[in-house]
Amino acid sequence: MLRENLMKVRENMEAACRRAGRDPGEVTLVAVSKIKPLSDIEELARAGQADFGENYVQELCDKDEKISVPVHWHMIGHLQRNKVKYIIDKVDLIHSVDSLSLARQIEKEAAKKGLTAQILIQVNVAGEETKFGLDREEVIGLIREISPLEHVKVRGLMTSAPYVEDPEENRACFRALHQLFVDIGRKNIDNISMDILSMGMTNDYEVAIEEGATMIRIGTAIFGERHYN
Ligand SMILES: *Cc1c(COP(=O)(O)O)cnc(C)c1O
Repeated sequence: MLRENLMKVRENMEAACRRAGRDPGEVTLVAVSKIKPLSDIEELARAGQADFGENYVQELCDKDEKISVPVHWHMIGHLQRNKVKYIIDKVDLIHSVDSLSLARQIEKEAAKKGLTAQILIQVNVAGEETKFGLDREEVIGLIREISPLEHVKVRGLMTSAPYVEDPEENRACFRALHQLFVDIGRKNIDNISMDILSMGMTNDYEVAIEEGATMIRIGTAIFGERHYN
């Protein structure tokens, strides 16, 4: 099942790229494995899936310790400052940076390990009060403040659009984030590159790709429904 699901998502990604006149090689698929067993991740990794997203620090660390196949981890969930030290040398990309205090903590822990952390700025495009992420107007200010940090590299933007019945309802959100991504890229700020735009989940990834996503985060369509207990 897992492999078939993965292939189906890859086919849909390619079709969305073709519709938008984009090269499928421009879009990276992150398989979101939160609360799913390690054996599922290993099966997919053996099938060629390289990137996996996790939301919880403890779970990510446990899986990283036990996994028998090399993978690239993405931290996509809300990250508390006091937990940065546990994941800093385990993850390839942190998608969920939404404050200067968190960026400074990442700087501190990355410096200790002698590495440069790759991060995205999380934006709340829909303006929902309950979601994490910055308002659009706040993004450029935060990026300018992060720019001098030597061990932190901003690579782009991330958003989670709301769950909607019809994914078309999220098109305007994705378009707005893509526009912001292009605008910031044009400013040529020191130490900032806008090359990753992380948007699109199971329900809306095809629309997100049509609107310029370079990274999509897919859980349910690959692993099936999540059952929290
Ligand atoms: C859980 C999660 C996803 C995956 O959601 P699906 O709808 O299952 O594809 C993507 N991004 C974030 C930030 C998540 O927390």
